[in-house]
Amino acid sequence: MSLNYNQAYNREIRKWMLKVSEYTENLAKQDLKRRFCPVCGSRNSTDFANNGFLDYDRCEDCNLVFMNPSLDGNNIQDGFKGDDHLLMEYFQIIIKFKDNPPVTKVNPRKDNTIKDIYRFKKSGKLLDVGCSAGDFLHKTRFFYQVEGVEVNPYTAAVAARHFPVHQDYLSDLSLDPDYDIVTLNQILYGVPDPVDLFKDILKILKDDGILYVNTPNSDSYAMHLYQGKINHLYGYTTQNVFNRKSLEKLAKLSGFEIKFFRTEWLDIYLSDLMQFFDNGDEFIHKRNIQLTDYERRMRIEDAMAKRSNFDLKDRGNYLVAVLDKQ
Ligand SMILES: [Zn+2]
Repeated sequence: MSLNYNQAYNREIRKWMLKVSEYTENLAKQDLKRRFCPVCGSRNSTDFANNGFLDYDRCEDCNLVFMNPSLDGNNIQDGFKGDDHLLMEYFQIIIKFKDNPPVTKVNPRKDNTIKDIYRFKKSGKLLDVGCSAGDFLHKTRFFYQVEGVEVNPYTAAVAARHFPVHQDYLSDLSLDPDYDIVTLNQILYGVPDPVDLFKDILKILKDDGILYVNTPNSDSYAMHLYQGKINHLYGYTTQNVFNRKSLEKLAKLSGFEIKFFRTEWLDIYLSDLMQFFDNGDEFIHKRNIQLTDYERRMRIEDAMAKRSNFDLKDRGNYLVAVLDKQ
């Protein structure tokens, strides 16, 4: 969930998040099932965090952090498809506050979301899996021939005004194996079976094709500080939080290898930190709009963090990786 300085947007999102919290409380009372690590299958896992209602374990073998016991994977999939009124409400907020599509070309060597792909591929066919309303496609269309995959009918319809959008799960589509690039922007954390997803991607990539992943990082300073109150674990939609080691394991098991890896964004702000320690019950990571002047302070702090350009090594709150076929 990105930082946003729009007060009206933040107010709606915080309200929505409080509803999610209530909903999660009820979900957590239902029949949850204990499971083995969804990446490596190991039975050995230890407590990692509790988000107030749901427990997350860390696999002792591959390091994956995953919901355990877990909600039924099929229910989660159906939720993304539109069965879940709360997810639909979220998508409606996203659309309501959506900026106009960018009409100017960014510098692909500098733009944070494109530079890691552009380093390896300067042209070709790109498929954004989980493209939502198509923001990433609007940005990348200047360099690549772009298409999207999106299961949610509401956001898929918005993206489809501009781009070819396949409206189903990748596993249920029969796409030709002619993609140069497949991208997963903030998708991997919600996928019940990541090995199957990576295998499906492997099938549609050309031999020299690449897979780009951007997803929460369980080794981050923010994760260790906020634990169960980290944005990544809020609510019920997060199935997995990867780090370098668990992503390497996932790659190995599904026929990929990591070509490039980095992490980004400290994601810890003083305004948040004060709330976390002084008034923890009210704390929501990056959505503490109840504080005076919150958006202005966050904007200043964010600008300072960007200027400092600090090397976080493996401790940023998101990991970014480019993979290719083994
Ligand atoms: Zn594991």
